[in-house]
Amino acid sequence: ERRWRQAQAILRKFARQCATPAHAKLWHVANELASDMEAELSSTEGGGNLRMLVSYVDAPLPTGEEKGTYYGINLRGTNFLLVRATLEGKNEPVTQVKRQEVAIPSAILMADTDSTRELCDFMALELAKFVSVHSDTDTESQARERKLGFTVSFTMDQSPASSSIACKWNRLSVDDTVGKELTTEINKALEKHSVNMRVPAVVYDTIGNLAGGRYYSKESVAAVSLGQGTDVAYIESPQQITETLNELSKSADTVIHMQWGNFTSSHLPLTEYDISLDAESIDPGSKIFEKLISGMYLGEIVRRVLLKMAKEAALFGDLVPPKLFTPYLLRSPDMAAMHQDISEDYGVVEDKLKEIFDINNSTPMVREIVAEVCDVVAERGARLVGAGIVGIVKKMGRISNKKSVITIEGGLYEHYRIFRNYLHSSVWEMLGSELSDNVIIEHSHGGSGAGSIFLAASQTQYA
Ligand code: ADP
Repeated sequence: ERRWRQAQAILRKFARQCATPAHAKLWHVANELASDMEAELSSTEGGGNLRMLVSYVDAPLPTGEEKGTYYGINLRGTNFLLVRATLEGKNEPVTQVKRQEVAIPSAILMADTDSTRELCDFMALELAKFVSVHSDTDTESQARERKLGFTVSFTMDQSPASSSIACKWNRLSVDDTVGKELTTEINKALEKHSVNMRVPAVVYDTIGNLAGGRYYSKESVAAVSLGQGTDVAYIESPQQITETLNELSKSADTVIHMQWGNFTSSHLPLTEYDISLDAESIDPGSKIFEKLISGMYLGEIVRRVLLKMAKEAALFGDLVPPKLFTPYLLRSPDMAAMHQDISEDYGVVEDKLKEIFDINNSTPMVREIVAEVCDVVAERGARLVGAGIVGIVKKMGRISNKKSVITIEGGLYEHYRIFRNYLHSSVWEMLGSELSDNVIIEHSHGGSGAGSIFLAASQTQYA
């Protein structure tokens, strides 16, 4: 069939442009990320592309010996998670995890004026309820004032743009008064509602995940968050940090938070679809790496390729299905479902095309092309994440002589099996059989928001 052949031609061209051979492409990306990191750390001006920021963690990271029951809050845009869990020490897994998601009332979220105080008041009140429902039997830790872990997820789940409070949290990285204000307000609110806990510092959730990785393994040196958005936390040797930055860091382990989504390089395999996606996005020119790898964008890239195939090859019939024009209509969980469809004649793809785009007439051959487009987009994204991880390990000088554990957290990594497999195999391919034993990539332990528990634990221990 002619249509099918034309669509195949578009697919093949796209796949060629997205190709990421390990030596000719991925290593260039890894090396460039490593040198950008180096440059940004040694620059006294700071404020580079990657927005590398020495974190506010004053206490050492967990040792694995932490014990007791702890509470945490993970603020995530339009909602927050309350978490409670018990640590047993000796690197034993967390137990008795209780988690509750609370929506932030729209009056607070959508307020025109700064509603930080109202938000903190609301969170403290909800925490008080949560603690009374899930109160613990650990009397020893009840007796003294405890630390409350408080983390903020970097990519707030598509908060309404008009929400002044969400805009404010997104400035956490560039404006450290935001974090300090949040810390002060939440502590005031906790006192007001007689919750016997204090927040030492508000940090990014990814740093909490790094703390979690550290609890389980001393070789844990970086954490990557890979969901709707993406960011990284890793441990830097103190001598690498310029004096200006160093003032902030009082601990031996210097934790750096890095918005690697901002990374950009001429080696990134950008196609016409990526270029138009970026141009039509709310932040053209920025987050180029993120637009290739994170859950927010993968489905949108697929949609753009399908739209081209519909227009130029009439893949779905003479009429372009109108819904195919809607940006961001295809989300990564649906893309993953189509991609991972093993049913006969691509039944899942058929259902998803109907459900999402009102496409009712797809043939098995057409559905196969759709699944292949998903494969190309996922493979490229996952392999670039792998290259980024290798770049970070290289920057830390650990590739050839030390074991490094990298913790990954986030729905994209957790739920998209083929994506995860591509990610792992790109790292093997880049490092070869000998060196790849040095880089261990693990899913984070304890689930969403658990990072706050490990922060609370390590901060309590040394307070
Ligand atoms: P967030 O990144 O929004 O803070 P998560 O880390 O839980 O939260 O990641 C959720 C994101 O992960 C979703 O928005 C989506 O992009 C991606 N995701 C979740 N489930 C799947 C799935 N089954 N397949 C592919 N991507 C998924």
